[in-house]
Formats: sequence, structure tokens, C-alpha cells
Amino acid sequence: MKAQPSLAVNFDAIEAAQVRLARTIARTPLVRSATLSRSGAPVYLKLETRQYSGSFKLRGAANAVLSLADHGAPVRGFVTASTGNHGRALAYAAKPQGKPAIICMSRLVLANKVAGAKTLGADVRIVGMSQDDAQAEVIRLVREEGWTEVPPFDNAAVIAGQGTIGLEIVEHLPDVALVLVPLSGGGLASGVAAAVKGRRPNARIVGVSMERGAAMYASLMANRPVQVEERETLADSLGGGIGLDNRYTFGMCRALLDEVILLNEEEIAAGIRHAFRMENEIVEGAGAVGIAAILAGKVNADRPTAIIVSGRNIDDVLHRRLVTADPHRGAA
Ligand SMILES: *Cc1c(COP(=O)(O)O)cnc(C)c1O
Repeated sequence: MKAQPSLAVNFDAIEAAQVRLARTIARTPLVRSATLSRSGAPVYLKLETRQYSGSFKLRGAANAVLSLADHGAPVRGFVTASTGNHGRALAYAAKPQGKPAIICMSRLVLANKVAGAKTLGADVRIVGMSQDDAQAEVIRLVREEGWTEVPPFDNAAVIAGQGTIGLEIVEHLPDVALVLVPLSGGGLASGVAAAVKGRRPNARIVGVSMERGAAMYASLMANRPVQVEERETLADSLGGGIGLDNRYTFGMCRALLDEVILLNEEEIAAGIRHAFRMENEIVEGAGAVGIAAILAGKVNADRPTAIIVSGRNIDDVLHRRLVTADPHRGAA
């Protein structure tokens, strides 16, 4: 393997995470999609919908929690600001360690995600109208009360944990040539790209975001981290900024992503519908963007392709409305 000395999180850290996480996470299925493999090349879905806690976020959160335990660091409990899935994952990861988890969320977070985190035993605190407000409360808890922050994406252990998805993809599909990755703060994309390109330097890694408030896309265009307006979107797990003081994911996404694609709301809805009708998977908006990008014709899956289907935590009423909305039921 060629070394990647310039990367903040290297291949070795991702392999170490894979060993550390072996008994904590599910090795999720990589299944071939007949309906998406249209151009003759096989298209596979990496089903993180089947991951414990309902999304891939468990990999990064558990790697961070277990790394601290490995190093014997004294920990009172864990705290994070999260749009939902990271909070759920952190609560899930903290529990077996006998540690409490506080999740600070903004008012924009959907009720099902608040309930989900509470079900997993987290202490949920609703603060302000944006991720930034929630983050300010996290900083206060760390400084004044001694809690340990596990950030949702801009953290080396979190990125390495997410990267284990890339290792699993290459192990199952050695000739993978294209990977579609949902993109928000970029922890998932950074880790997966470092892992896949560590093994397959010529593989193409494409990030997929929504048109409404794509912070990493805007930052890559500006060539520095920038803020974007937070807007409601079906891909709510892709909302929020990348942090103006971003340390890891901006640089890694700039170095490793070959392209970023943006999708409108109708395209994302079509991805959720397709996942349900054709693949029998309940997928949240953020998890469906890779499928949606192919359906919308915005990416050409003309080579062995893996789509990361990143999570399943969607409000059931919203999901039912979306999958029953289209009269052309079953049409791909
Ligand atoms: C967090 C999340 C993403 C995006 O991950 P980043 O590391 O923030 O880019 C994608 N899909 C789902 C379901 C998520 O919860």
C-alpha cells in the first residue's frame, strides 16, 4: 500500500479501528441491486441501515469511546451536539462502558430523533435554533463540568471509525471503482475515502449532498470552511455546518473527494421511494442520496459501484407519506 503521509487520519488508524470495533458494531451486508445495475456494471448497497443504532454513526462514536478506554483516560461521561444519529450512536456506545451521555440538540431536530436518543438512555437537552447554539452548550459542559466531548465528525477517532465501512467494501468487492458517500460534515466521506483509496488508489469517491444547505460543498467551492444557512430538508441528517475552525474533514475531503453532487428534494424523495419499493429498505433522506444520485442521472454507475446507505432513522409518518405519494407504484 502507498503511504498517505499528508492525511490527518491514515490507513493504519482505520485498520486499528476495525480491530477495536470488531465486537461492538455490525459488519453490515453489501447487497447487489438488480434495479440500479443497469449499465451492466454491478451496483451494490452498503446497508448501514442495518447497523446497531440505525446508522453508521455508531462506528465513529464507538471508536472514540473505546479509544479513550484503551488509553485509560478518566471519563465522567460523554457529551455531543448532534442532529440525531450521532447522539443516538454515542448513547449506544457509552452504555456498555457504564458512562452517561448528554446530547445537546437544536429545536430543528425532528421529534423522532429526540425520542430515539432518549430511548437509548441519553440525557437530551434542547438548546437554541441551530447546531451552533447546541455546540455552545457542549463547550460549557466540557469547560465547567468536566464532560468529554465526542464530536460528530471533526475528530480523528470518529473519522477512523467511519472509515471501517471503506475497508469492508474493499474486502467484499475488491474491484470497487466508484463509491457514493452521503456528505455533511465529512467524517464519513473522509474515513471511507482514506480507506478505499488506501487499497484502491484509482477508485473514484463521490460525495452526495442536498441543494438546501450543503456546507461542505460550499466550503470546497470557496476553498475554506464557510457557513451556509441551515434549511429544512428531507436529508435532515446532512444539515449543519462543518465548523469554521474545521481541523480534519475539510482538508481530507478536499484531498480525497473526486466530485460532490447536489440533489433537490424531489430527487431525494425518489431515492427513499426506490429504496422501499425496489430494495425493501426503510431509508432516511440522508441515507438515500446515493441511490437518488443514480436515479437522477447525476452520476454514471458504469463500473463496479458501492453506494453507502447510511441510515434508517426517518419519522414513520413522513416515510409513509413519501412512499405512498407517487401513483406509479413500483415503477423504478
Ligand atoms: C451524519 C450522517 C451522514 C453524514 O455524515 P458526515 O460524517 O457528517 O458527513 C450521512 N447519513 C446519515 C444517516 C447520517 O446520520
